[in-house]
Amino acid sequence: MGGFLIEYIEYMENHTKTTLKTYWSFAKKRKLVFVVLGTSIIANTINLIPPLFYKRLFDQLNLGAPLEMLFRTLSLVALFYLIDWVFWRTAAIVWMRVQPQLMADLDNYCFEYLHKHSVNFFNNNFVGALVKRVNRFVGSFSNISDRIIWNFSQIIITIVFILGVLATRSWYLPAIMLVWFVIFGTLNYWLIRKKMPLDLDKSQKESALTARLADTIANHTALKFFNGYHRETAAYKEGNHEVTKAQWRAYNLDGWFDAGQAFLMYCLEIGMMSMALVLWKQDKVTLGDFALIQAFLITLFLRIWDLGRMIRDTYTDMAYANEMTEILQTPHAIQDALNAKEWKKTAASIHWDQVDFGYNKTNPLIKNLNLEIKAGERVALVGPSGAGKSTLLKLIMRQYDTLKGAVKIGGQDIKTITQESLWRVMSYVPQDPVLFHRSILENIRYARPEATEAEVISAAKSAHCHEFIEALPAKYETLVGERGVKLSGGERQRVAIARAILRDAPILLLDEATSSLDSESERLIQDALDTLMIGKTVVVIAHRLSTIMRMDRIVVIDGGQVKESGAHAELVAKPDGLYRKLWELQVGGFLSEPEEQDAIA
Ligand code: ATP
Repeated sequence: MGGFLIEYIEYMENHTKTTLKTYWSFAKKRKLVFVVLGTSIIANTINLIPPLFYKRLFDQLNLGAPLEMLFRTLSLVALFYLIDWVFWRTAAIVWMRVQPQLMADLDNYCFEYLHKHSVNFFNNNFVGALVKRVNRFVGSFSNISDRIIWNFSQIIITIVFILGVLATRSWYLPAIMLVWFVIFGTLNYWLIRKKMPLDLDKSQKESALTARLADTIANHTALKFFNGYHRETAAYKEGNHEVTKAQWRAYNLDGWFDAGQAFLMYCLEIGMMSMALVLWKQDKVTLGDFALIQAFLITLFLRIWDLGRMIRDTYTDMAYANEMTEILQTPHAIQDALNAKEWKKTAASIHWDQVDFGYNKTNPLIKNLNLEIKAGERVALVGPSGAGKSTLLKLIMRQYDTLKGAVKIGGQDIKTITQESLWRVMSYVPQDPVLFHRSILENIRYARPEATEAEVISAAKSAHCHEFIEALPAKYETLVGERGVKLSGGERQRVAIARAILRDAPILLLDEATSSLDSESERLIQDALDTLMIGKTVVVIAHRLSTIMRMDRIVVIDGGQVKESGAHAELVAKPDGLYRKLWELQVGGFLSEPEEQDAIA
């Protein structure tokens, strides 16, 4: 735990500065923040003035002053309370207005930055964890800023004010207080260090339990049908027991600290009053000073009783916020070049020009690949699983950058054009499309937001979605569930194809786009796709070779290399060709239906 703790402290120190800088850079943009800071500082200071008048009141009482004079002093107390009240209210009202705006600013910033991260980034991070980080970053700002304005600044002003006023009576009084602060501060520091590993342990156990909950929800069907309910419940209970034990350990230390803190406060009170008695005997303080000291001590104790806990909570908030700061600090892996231009409208050819690529730099998947697809050509990529076909599509979409060489669309290196303009040139239908939890209409229209409802329905008809959509309870307004779970795999694919039809981009990329469809639906959609493909540059990946026979060219990929290239008839005619081997395997496999057999013949 020791080494880990040191690493953790270093991590915290490195990121905390950046988190606070980020918070401040947003806060200072909203001028009302300064109004809140100003009014709350004034309110805090004014709040400390009434004890001075109480001191005067007690002195006047002691000297037998007339009632009128006593009431005049009391009315000054009331006046300061009233002014104080006005400033507090102003600070609170303005803060209530500006804090939600700041939280929204930070939230928007996280959203914008997060979505500029590459596909690879999202592949490497859990959705739930990212959502939590954004929420915590914003939530931590709310907690920390509240504490700075309403607690920490109050404490500093209180201490400085009290020390200053007491110094006008006798140097002994602030001296005692200063010594006490050193002891109190040391105790707090010791506790924070002592408690950090306990808090860490507790939060790790809580995270593990949360992850277990999320994992079991994601696997809820396996949990039911493999009779995992009792096993998982027992494991969850055990996890919760561990969290409880960790919590006990942390609370136990808190309890001891509270006891120590209370003891120190009694010591300060008795110490200060003893010193006041001595000074009183020497005529250095008056009776009113006793009231003043008491009032100051009560104010001070009220404000610092929770200081330790507030510091520790702030630490926890910082730890949460730092998790997001780490993401905000991570540069976007794929960025537009500084002088990136819009893609120039031209014939949309595709060229992988001497490309090297590997997910892992030491293990290249694609080496020196050179493949050109002419504008308007329809090409199928086939090959064994893991050959690198989908990777070639990912490189066109710039999900990843090549290690060497270039991918060119219409002769323009995609690294030199803006990503937005690159994506505008293409429609992509993945194997397992994920949909927004929005209506089907919105999901299809996502491809072209300005499309009319009639255009959306026409695309849906071409993709053979219309039939199943019309049977849904709210038709095109039906919500599809998170990730589109309320639709079958085939229905989701058809929605994705409808999107591609609606987008009508010059390049069409289909990655196993019809793999989840039954043969009948596939045949129907194939007709729609054939129409869609006219005049477009098309790259299709398909394992079911019968679906790509009509392509202009078939490129066989294996080990990240082009092994064969040619029309279907040409490739099946090659005696030892890889395509012929794949084809022969499938003739005895997938292609069992009579019509498809006819097609082969
Ligand atoms: P299939 O036909 O099964 O879809 P494919 O030819 O499309 O296969 P790719 O998806 O391009 O193959 O994958 C090629 C290789 O790269 C595989 O070995 C795969 O495990 C690996 N790979 C794919 N995506 C990633 C990733 N994000 N990170 C690391 N390795 C990956």
